[in-house]
Amino acid sequence: MTDCLFCKIVAKEIPATVVLETERALAFRDVNPQAPTHVLVIPKEHHRDAAALAAADDGLADDVLAACHAVAVQEGVADTGYRVVFNTGPGAGQTVFHVHAHVLGGRGLTWPPG
Ligand code: 5GP
Ligand code: ZN
Repeated sequence: MTDCLFCKIVAKEIPATVVLETERALAFRDVNPQAPTHVLVIPKEHHRDAAALAAADDGLADDVLAACHAVAVQEGVADTGYRVVFNTGPGAGQTVFHVHAHVLGGRGLTWPPG
């Protein structure tokens, strides 16, 4: 998709601090981190939100979720606990319409998040 910020990061047209890359997923640090570990995990292929990713129905959602866990292990937060969040729709705070999982950890994460 030509006018998508995260597609441009996949295409390396916009720089990002990449922490993990697999065949179908890319993980990079959020530019405005909300926790010591705050990494965005995206499918390289464009889907607008979590519902569209789930509907892709070819294992892509599995790959993204597996990449989230791999990032948590790599960041050293898998044992202490981490959160995976898909903001889905403007009412839930989604601002970039290329599906992304926020992987958050490295501090106490309260629930509910507020
Ligand atoms: P959303 O609000 O859609 O769930 O999350 C979008 C996230 O993308 C935000 O946490 C925001 O800080 C992050 N973000 C926005 N623009 C950029 C960018 O150009 N580079 C990176 N690395 N993160 C971005
Ligand atoms: Zn995109």
